[in-house]
Amino acid sequence: MVEKLIIIGSGPAGLSAAIYASREGFAPLVLGGFAPGGQLQLTTKVENYPGFPEGVDGPVLIEQMMNQAKKFGTRFVYENAIEVDFSGKPFKVKTADKEFESECIIIATGANAKRLGIDSENKFMGRGVSNCATCDGAFYKGKDVITVGGGDTAMEDSVFLTRFAKSVTIVHRKDHFRASKTMQDRVFSNPKIRVIWNTTIAEITGDRSVTGVRLKNVLTNQTTEMKIDGVFVAIGYTPNTDIFKGKIELDQMGYIVPKDEVYTGIDGVFVAGDVADHFYRQAATAAGSGVKAALIAREYLQNLESNANKQ
Ligand SMILES: Cc1cc2nc3c(=O)[nH]c(=O)nc-3n(C[C@H](O)[C@H](O)[C@H](O)COP(=O)(O)OP(=O)(O)OC[C@H]3O[C@@H](n4cnc5c(N)ncnc54)[C@H](O)[C@@H]3O)c2cc1C
Repeated sequence: MVEKLIIIGSGPAGLSAAIYASREGFAPLVLGGFAPGGQLQLTTKVENYPGFPEGVDGPVLIEQMMNQAKKFGTRFVYENAIEVDFSGKPFKVKTADKEFESECIIIATGANAKRLGIDSENKFMGRGVSNCATCDGAFYKGKDVITVGGGDTAMEDSVFLTRFAKSVTIVHRKDHFRASKTMQDRVFSNPKIRVIWNTTIAEITGDRSVTGVRLKNVLTNQTTEMKIDGVFVAIGYTPNTDIFKGKIELDQMGYIVPKDEVYTGIDGVFVAGDVADHFYRQAATAAGSGVKAALIAREYLQNLESNANKQ
């Protein structure tokens, strides 16, 4: 059986695309992947998604989106796509034990924030540890926070966090930043920001939420305790594009290069969400691009149908 539309990824981008496409009658198949629901499953309260003035828990928001998509006829397979073949039509998508064919594809495989790689980071994720200053900064009014990283994102996040936090301490494992000079200047001229060089976070401590960190100087191996209310990890993202290497144009960081927002350069293969966006990285922007991809997919599928009817 050849599917009309396969959506690879079940985060806000994939689910929004699924809601639109299923409501249009295309009964899409969503491959949910290794992390069904995507990044929002990792967070507690989302306060900036439109329609929820009191905020909504990330997993609850995702469950609602999934239910809405199912209601209109979306089907889910909670497997990873491990190989794609876009060289001919219908397109082919393989999981570990199945092979699917489809007339049209929407790629919405998202990105993963790079982690510090310590156990306590996972324990406190969403409860004092965050990868998203834009999302969670407002929860830290009058508090002391740490930012980890040395690139532009870490600088930008640190400056942004000073709008809310009493103090921002940048912890960096080297003795210099790789961020642009402009961003560094903004950091060094901000009286609320200080930097601890040559240092990593050995452990994040607390009970129900973060109350401190154990820092380790990488030159002396000495550790020190520090009281803190939040840790923002800003060491970059990895887009989930391994299976598209050599098949779709990727940029230097591995993100899909979108053309006119949702086009990939392959007729019938569209893209949505964080997998093609290293700037906005928000649930609402991912959802918005999912909607755009679904509407363009509809146009593509309708054209296929009308061409077939003419023959
Ligand atoms: C801790 C945290 C808190 C956040 N808080 C907020 C917030 O408060 N507000 C906000 O707007 N944004 C927030 N964000 C950002 C937001 O979650 C992302 O911008 C959004 O989830 C991106 O959606 P997406 O659908 O593009 O990708 P993702 O959410 O990353 O979903 C990608 C999906 O693709 C699937 N996938 C990947 N590879 C494959 C494959 N090979 N085969 C099949 N499926 C695959 C994954 O399983 C996943 O389901 C937060 C992010 C994090 C990490």
